[in-house]
Amino acid sequence: MKIICVGRNYKKHAEELGNQVPNEPVIFMKPDSAILRQRDAFYIPDFSNDVHYEAEIVVKLNRLGKRIQSKFASKYYAEFTLGIDFTARDVQSNLKAKGLPWEKAKGFDNSAVCGDWLQVSEYDINNLSFELYKNGECVQQGNTSDMLFSVDSLIEHCSQYFTLKIGDQIFTGTPEGVGPVTSGDLLEGYIEGHKVLNVKVK
Ligand code: ZN
Repeated sequence: MKIICVGRNYKKHAEELGNQVPNEPVIFMKPDSAILRQRDAFYIPDFSNDVHYEAEIVVKLNRLGKRIQSKFASKYYAEFTLGIDFTARDVQSNLKAKGLPWEKAKGFDNSAVCGDWLQVSEYDINNLSFELYKNGECVQQGNTSDMLFSVDSLIEHCSQYFTLKIGDQIFTGTPEGVGPVTSGDLLEGYIEGHKVLNVKVK
């Protein structure tokens, strides 16, 4: 499986990192080796001094498809959750300054963790509120209605380039409020008030 990630999908987050608001989705990927099981601790890698959390709604593909039209995209996923796209911000800033790819900053081991999966049919994917708490304090609060590109339009866009396969995950981008993690932190994620994610940082 592959993990497709979307950058700058919330206007205020694009602005907090000094990026322009994009006119088409910013896409990057993580390898399957990036997956961290939710019940395992996240260990800060030794190549970074500034690893950030980015809380994001994640959808899981349950059908194979390519060149999927937005109006049919909802048939291609049935589950979603909240995940964290861990990002080595210092590494990313160095690479960005040189115009180089971000993989080392974004695709390292354990940089993708997903919470408990929920059924899309029981929610409105285009109007989901979600929060990330760090040590009991709310640090990120978002709603998918603020996404620049909706889940269905992301599927249309991505599937023009990449065949989407069963089990693939799409991290749909983070709202504002990203920040660093330090050893000992506890990250907890909620969707519509339900706790779905619990990650210890070491
Ligand atoms: Zn992200």
